[in-house]
Amino acid sequence: MEKKENKLGIRGSDTHSLMFNNVKVPKENRIGENGFGFNFAMKTLNGGRIGIASQALGIASGALEFSLKYSQERKSFGKEIFQHQAIQFKLAEMATKIDAARMLCFKAANLKDQGQDYTRAAAMAKLYASDVAMYSTVEAVQIHGGYGFVKEFHVERLMRDAKITQIYEGTSEIQKIVISRDLLKN
Ligand SMILES: Cc1cc2nc3c(=O)[nH]c(=O)nc-3n(C[C@H](O)[C@H](O)[C@H](O)COP(=O)(O)OP(=O)(O)OC[C@H]3O[C@@H](n4cnc5c(N)ncnc54)[C@H](O)[C@@H]3O)c2cc1C
Repeated sequence: MEKKENKLGIRGSDTHSLMFNNVKVPKENRIGENGFGFNFAMKTLNGGRIGIASQALGIASGALEFSLKYSQERKSFGKEIFQHQAIQFKLAEMATKIDAARMLCFKAANLKDQGQDYTRAAAMAKLYASDVAMYSTVEAVQIHGGYGFVKEFHVERLMRDAKITQIYEGTSEIQKIVISRDLLKN
């Protein structure tokens, strides 16, 4: 195992590279038939994308929860910042996008449960939910003002954690390739 990576976010989960040198695997240890691997890997990624979309949804929901709470506690110009329309609009946008992301996650998970093709739905859920996680966490830091930038209030961690959801299990650009290819099917 190689050294532990020093990461921007999800620091509670360790990441290491694995190096294989001159490894020979005997034929009888092969899983499946010749050529089976790529399709199997793609299917595994499809399922994993629902998981990452759900992770993104959780991060975004946490950002909204922290922001709702803080905006009713912090006062500026003689009232809770929640009373400023600029803050209300941020919270309304976050809540709307989070609900839409949740629907996409449910749709993909439901198709999978039904045994139907969920390739496009999983890619859409991951693409959208990860953008919503990034959007909501950046807004959460903004709503917290200076406290958003310090560790005590947690939202800076959510912002750092959100970024990976646009990258792993296939980047957002790759999700768009998957979705656009799938559009040609129907
Ligand atoms: C913390 C962490 C954990 C990880 N865990 C796992 C794991 O458990 N299992 C695993 O297999 N992998 C894991 N990965 C790897 C991760 O899935 C890849 O980093 C990710 O899929 C992006 O691949 P890449 O880094 O090779 O980027 P690249 O493919 O080099 O992409 C670089 C940039 O180019 C863009 N790009 C590439 N190709 C195209 C294209 N055809 N069209 C348009 N844009 C394109 C990408 O979207 C990206 O913006 C992990 C990575 C991290 C950081």
